Amino acid sequence: MRVALVSYDKPKTVALAEDFIRKTAGTAIVIDEENPQLVVTIGGDGTLISAFHKYSHLLNTVRFIGIHTGHLGFYTDWRDYELDDMLEGLKHDKGESVSYPLLDVRVKYRDETEPKRFLALNEVVLKKIDGTMVCDVFVKDELFETFRGDGICVATPTGSTGLSKSLGGAVIHPRTEAIQLTELASVNNRIYRTLSSPMVIAKDEWIVVEAADQKGLILAIDNLTFENQQIEKIVYRIAKERVHFARYRHMHFWNRVENAFIGKVGEQDYQDGSH
Ligand code: NAP
Ligand code: MN
Repeated sequence: MRVALVSYDKPKTVALAEDFIRKTAGTAIVIDEENPQLVVTIGGDGTLISAFHKYSHLLNTVRFIGIHTGHLGFYTDWRDYELDDMLEGLKHDKGESVSYPLLDVRVKYRDETEPKRFLALNEVVLKKIDGTMVCDVFVKDELFETFRGDGICVATPTGSTGLSKSLGGAVIHPRTEAIQLTELASVNNRIYRTLSSPMVIAKDEWIVVEAADQKGLILAIDNLTFENQQIEKIVYRIAKERVHFARYRHMHFWNRVENAFIGKVGEQDYQDGSH
């Protein structure tokens, strides 16, 4: 099995990467940064997002697996102290995997004839910080609303627990094939009107956003931000591609959500014995 390691340069992640290399030396697991079958990330969800973009040209053949050096993550199934358990799974790998939907965006820039295509794992945000962003939002080819506000976020189901959730979006089970639009501070009064609630579109639908003022827009694709974009139009849909994860043990999505956002009710309060 050809494996690529992606970590960032914090001592803890470097040490874990070294451990991984030492423990797999002389086995059928070989390090291959160029053409891996499995990409192992060490760090946080952000590290996995970076690895996804680094190896997005190999999506059909590669699987990802994440080790989190902090808390349990959404894309990272293993904690740092579980390296040996993960290696057991890897050594007996039978191709176990799970796949999730991705977001396909086609961005038409003012000065270019052909749109540029990007894939997002979490979300794509179009926003403006200097002045109000005005754009027309279409569902399929029909005008739905004219949006005025700070921006628009379109997220995948796995991205629904990221920025999208902070914008008031619903948490969507990643087995659902859908994308969700959320608003960033829309202007709503007697003159201007938007839906003002998150919107989830079906698998065979798409969203089009046409910017009225094409200057000074910011386009954020997951953890990559492009400033001063002159964008005419963006088309969002569920991608044909999916992202595949190696899964040596099963973790329920709602357990993960509970663990990340709720925790054991009352645990904190009782720790100091004040109750
Ligand atoms: P970051 O600033 O470290 O990300 C912010 C937090 O979001 C981190 O705790 C990160 O986890 C977590 N996160 C990332 N993807 C998530 C997901 N799908 N579900 C739940 N939590 C998630 O930046 P980053 O690590 O490069 O991640 C980029 C992503 O962060 C963006 O795509 C966006 O979804 C999210 N984000 C959220 C907000 C917000 O909620 N206001 C603001 C900025 C960015 P780790 O610590 O494990 O990396
Ligand atoms: Mn992060």
